[in-house]
Amino acid sequence: MCGIVGCVSKENCYEKILSTLSGLEYRGYDSAGIAMLSSSKTLNVRKKKGYVSNLKGKPLPGETGIGHTRWATHGKPSDANAHPHVSGKFALVHNGIVENFRALKGELLEQGEEFLSETDSEVIVKLIAKAYRGDFFEAVVKACERLEGSYALAVLCSDDPGEIIGVRQGSPLVAGAAPDALYLCSDVPALCGAAEFICPASDGEFIRIRDGNICFCDGNGREICKEFSRVPPESRSSSVMSGTFMEKEIAEIPRALSDTFKSLSATDFAPCARILRGARHVYAVACGTALHAAQAFGDIAESEVRCPVSCFAASEFRYRDPLIGRDDLLVAVSQSGETADTLQAARLAKERGAYVLAVTNIAQSSLASLADFTIVMRAGSEIAVAATKSYNCQLLCLYYLAAQMKYYRVQEFPDWFSQFSSLSSAAEEVFACFPQMSALAAKFKDARGMFYLGRGLDVRTAAEGALKVKEIAYVFAEGYAAGELKHGTLALIEEGFPVFAVSTCSALASKTENALAEAKARGARTVLFSQNVSALSESCADFKCALPVIHEKLMPILAVIPLQYFACRMCLLRGFDPDKPRNLAKSVTVE
Ligand code: GLU
Repeated sequence: MCGIVGCVSKENCYEKILSTLSGLEYRGYDSAGIAMLSSSKTLNVRKKKGYVSNLKGKPLPGETGIGHTRWATHGKPSDANAHPHVSGKFALVHNGIVENFRALKGELLEQGEEFLSETDSEVIVKLIAKAYRGDFFEAVVKACERLEGSYALAVLCSDDPGEIIGVRQGSPLVAGAAPDALYLCSDVPALCGAAEFICPASDGEFIRIRDGNICFCDGNGREICKEFSRVPPESRSSSVMSGTFMEKEIAEIPRALSDTFKSLSATDFAPCARILRGARHVYAVACGTALHAAQAFGDIAESEVRCPVSCFAASEFRYRDPLIGRDDLLVAVSQSGETADTLQAARLAKERGAYVLAVTNIAQSSLASLADFTIVMRAGSEIAVAATKSYNCQLLCLYYLAAQMKYYRVQEFPDWFSQFSSLSSAAEEVFACFPQMSALAAKFKDARGMFYLGRGLDVRTAAEGALKVKEIAYVFAEGYAAGELKHGTLALIEEGFPVFAVSTCSALASKTENALAEAKARGARTVLFSQNVSALSESCADFKCALPVIHEKLMPILAVIPLQYFACRMCLLRGFDPDKPRNLAKSVTVE
């Protein structure tokens, strides 16, 4: 979360920074700011609470600049807490958390320093200014030696126009080059319109842009040899002509599924054959939406591959001293490949000797570079904070992985394997229910709470549907195993309470529908999502949404689509922006 950018150009680069910041805005949008340094050594800062668009106006002078779009961790969103932070000759933008900032701030206050913000980040720029003896690089290195936590920084020094120093420790940072400018940036997609070549930094590396060059080095200033690669066309940032990014990204699901399927068919799994064949225990870790995909993988892999699979929220896995070790496989799922908790979980698994397989949308991400093997989904860039098409593609990749595991173990593919190629057109068929979803959203828009029920794999779909409506429509919702309803939650049902049930598993359909009937009998307004809208469902559902018929094991990839769209419509009807939900940001790079 939070986006940082740095740019050195031959001409004024305010607009370049502004446009790169807009591409980073999905990472954080509670405040934004830019510091510009001109060749006459003047430093100017513009920073404001709110969106990046607040920075538009007469460009500040300068050919060197840094910018930030914030997702507050320390101190509320305000003009003062917005980055860049300035001390003496230095301006700094920071992504991450300085865990020992209280001790450092106490020390600096005792030395008479005054702080203008409540952020942890301001201590860094103060430390740099205090360490400065005329050598910019040395001052940054000295300050970093005092920091605990995660950070990516970009720093300017007014003594050195044309120079930016960046450093990466736990938060992502990429260098980019174009004929007219050199860049630092938090992610690849935001750089794609601007840079032609990119190179990600690893933890502990410094990036120095100066004298028209980009140089990677360690803390002693020793150069590190790195290779730049051409910007991949599929990671180019997209723009939205009308409507919201979330609507656009839902509309892209069929294409994302067919691109991902093509890419999976061309992926050679032989390098990980040993572990797919012989993994003793499989762990799957992820956060948020990706966690629901990981849990669906757990259900599918355990039943098809007949090997134990344990799924964990990555934030829990890290701290539970898991039994993972050699001969175990950890599957780590993250759209951005930068999710801090998932990265830490993957590092822990590696330390303990396990094999790490990543599923991510970004081939150059930190997770991909850490993993032993990476499945890159081809969802295309996803800007809306609430994940949609990346979820469908994560599921597809994970099903594909489960099928490969089965094949390596028993030389047989699951019977649903041949139906992957139909998913894209089936997803298009699902779109036929969107008008119905809009009408339901209008009916339920004032609901104070909702239940989403399912059994078997449908529990994962129900949980994801509930998460969507919480994330963007701010309606409390619970995704629930339908069989659990009568063990407590039924008490919450009152007249008019919306209850959605996803029922795609034939063996469990009557059970799910009975639970829905029990809710209806107590006054709930019920909606059933199913391929077979049977006679039984007549009595339990006030509204029915027919899903396309495809192998039922694959239904989680499709059944979630109406729920994604419903949440989006609820959000819009309630007057909110689905692309920028309050308190959230995409790419959660802090713990
Ligand atoms: N910790 C810093 C702050 O609260 C940076 C947060 C971020 O990564 O956006 O300002």
